[in-house]
Amino acid sequence: MVQGVGFRPFVYQLATKHKLTGWVLNTSSDVKIEVEGEREALEQFLAELEREVPPLARIEDITAVSAPPVGYTKFEIRRSLEQEGRYQLVSPDIATCDACKSELLSPGDRRYRYPFTNCTNCGPRFTIIEDIPYDRPKTTMRRFVMCSDCQREYDDPLNRRFHAQPNACPQCGPSLELVDGNGKTVSVDDVIATTSKLLREGKIIAIKGLGGFQLACDATSDEAVELLRARKRRPYKPLAIMLATLEQVKEHCFVSAEEEKLLTSHQCPIALLRWKNDSLVSKKVAPGLKYLGVMLPYTPLHHLLLRETGLPLVMTSGNISEEPIAKDNGEALRRLDGIADYFALHNRDIHARYDDSVAMVELERPQLIRRARGYAPYPIHLPFSTKKQVLACGAELKNTFCITKDDHAFISQHIGDMENLETLEHFENTIELYKKLFRLEPEVVAYDLHPEYLSTNYAKERANGLTLIGVQHHHAHIVSCMVENGVQEPVIGVAFDGTGYGSDGTIWGGEFLVADYKSFSRVGHLEYVPMPGGAAAIERPYRMAFSYIFNLLGDSVLGQDLPFLKDVDSYEKEVMKQQIEKRINCPPTSSCGRLFDGVSALLGIRGKVDYEAQAAVELEMAAPDQIDEAEAYPFSIVEQDGVKIVKLRELFEAIIHDVGHLPVAIISLRFHHTIARMIAEMCRLIAKERGLHKVALSGGVFQNRLLLRLAVAALEKEGFEVLTHSLVPTNDGGISLGQAVIASWEHAEK
Ligand code: ZN
Ligand code: ZN
Ligand code: FE
Repeated sequence: MVQGVGFRPFVYQLATKHKLTGWVLNTSSDVKIEVEGEREALEQFLAELEREVPPLARIEDITAVSAPPVGYTKFEIRRSLEQEGRYQLVSPDIATCDACKSELLSPGDRRYRYPFTNCTNCGPRFTIIEDIPYDRPKTTMRRFVMCSDCQREYDDPLNRRFHAQPNACPQCGPSLELVDGNGKTVSVDDVIATTSKLLREGKIIAIKGLGGFQLACDATSDEAVELLRARKRRPYKPLAIMLATLEQVKEHCFVSAEEEKLLTSHQCPIALLRWKNDSLVSKKVAPGLKYLGVMLPYTPLHHLLLRETGLPLVMTSGNISEEPIAKDNGEALRRLDGIADYFALHNRDIHARYDDSVAMVELERPQLIRRARGYAPYPIHLPFSTKKQVLACGAELKNTFCITKDDHAFISQHIGDMENLETLEHFENTIELYKKLFRLEPEVVAYDLHPEYLSTNYAKERANGLTLIGVQHHHAHIVSCMVENGVQEPVIGVAFDGTGYGSDGTIWGGEFLVADYKSFSRVGHLEYVPMPGGAAAIERPYRMAFSYIFNLLGDSVLGQDLPFLKDVDSYEKEVMKQQIEKRINCPPTSSCGRLFDGVSALLGIRGKVDYEAQAAVELEMAAPDQIDEAEAYPFSIVEQDGVKIVKLRELFEAIIHDVGHLPVAIISLRFHHTIARMIAEMCRLIAKERGLHKVALSGGVFQNRLLLRLAVAALEKEGFEVLTHSLVPTNDGGISLGQAVIASWEHAEK
């Protein structure tokens, strides 16, 4: 990755320093350098080229050959060279660098308070690129003609803004505009000062950011946050906040050294940090949670707003519920009508939608939960080279797609929940963008086995003449984890999530696989329980609680004084019984996500959810922070037709025994211990038969930090090497990579 990251000026300076002559140029696939001079100087040049690359550049490979001298008299930077069918990596958008930030905040600097300040080390990239090679006419900056000062910087190889394609200043670059809720321009001298004042007054402002609109409001005001929630129709889903400085983050959250590194990295993601009790951030920002999603400002506009408002700001995606983030001015005014009181707009178009990335630090390393800004479209390196390009369409929730070429897997940025046409359109457009940017033409299309996913339909409709490969959901989860850990040999895969379509047409989600890139066998799973009402059981976890106890313990238990049953009306209880007994709209599932839901509801923690996994998340939050109590509930493992089944009857008996007698915190902790024990015990039994000693953990359930810690500890105690996620989400955002690898492996050079 050497375009738009100050690589050529670096080469220029290096060549000049060693008194070498020749040239450097970008091509569509790499960078070419010809240097002429003394042997010793050439050797030093080559060594420093590798050692001292600019912060954002990445060199995958250097090939050096000797050539007879030409007799160059100077060193120059030549025009980019376009090559048919070749491609080059495109840089993600990068948070404002320190040099730009200091110009932004220095009175007297010509970019003082200019919200579109950037240089070769920072600023927009992927969100403004329409095609490669990366040059200004191929970006959404082409409409702005540089003034003479900017042009001079742009042309000077020794300047920080040499060939900085989005280079701009107040004279020639994009500008802000404030628009009210009726779409009328508000005439103000200073948009930032006025916006800051409105935010302090409790108003909700839609701000055009890097990859789309964000909704901002005062994060310390219960009223402002409640208003935003009511308008966005999101009563509980946690909102991210932005704080001006790292010092301020530390006032509100605990920050470890590793978390500090993540927060201040040039990717600048939202980090999930432990929330301090005395923080002034409204509890309504993340109701019932111990972690707060926090990020630092990553554009000059954010820096200015945060400083001038002087408050922590909610900074959440500009959308209603699960639609994609709004990106164009007109679109935002239409879609966010009635949500935002004012709009802070600008006239630099966003070409690619790009959400904020989300990460947490667990097991002492960052784990991406949502991979977008700052990370995509940088590819994941494959441990093999594929001969055929594969498009993998991903799953449904938290969708991403992935396209493989050579030894690269281009995972798209987070697309969203593919449950509406807007998101499908975003998915289709982004596939076209990747195909264009990276010169891709997939010959194989991989898809999830679920017949109702929009991504699956897309694959089947678009695959005219292409090879179609269906990939089982949990196989894809496990392979995604193996790939990012560089593991190829068979592993025991523990795939725990909410929903995944099984090879037998049932809903899986508590799976033990023996898997490699080629195939898998399902060697164990949690026992099946019916989901009364199908999707209704996901939205209303008390239905799962009812199902577990009714199925595992029988009718008589329903007569007991179980608090959660008091909130379910007797008609609905009767309906559920009928559904279960007659098997009407009652798909069986082995899902671990549903097990967490059911226990959460049974303990009276959460019976109805507003966002995915809310009941499970709140069950995790209920557990105490000190985890020295090691007691677990009983469970049993039986063998049926060579498959190990975890039976849950004893577990539910024990929980019901404890409900009302023990604090919910203790029951939750014991439950988490039980799942960790289950994982370790199943893996021990499988390993005994198969002789495997690596275990890969994947699936959305492993976003549960307490479970992840306990499971890894229990497995390591059994002597296993445990593979977990870091670069790729453990949730369904990682599915596309697994699919792509499984489909590519057949056509790989091994
Ligand atoms: Zn910069
Ligand atoms: Zn200018
Ligand atoms: Fe999944």
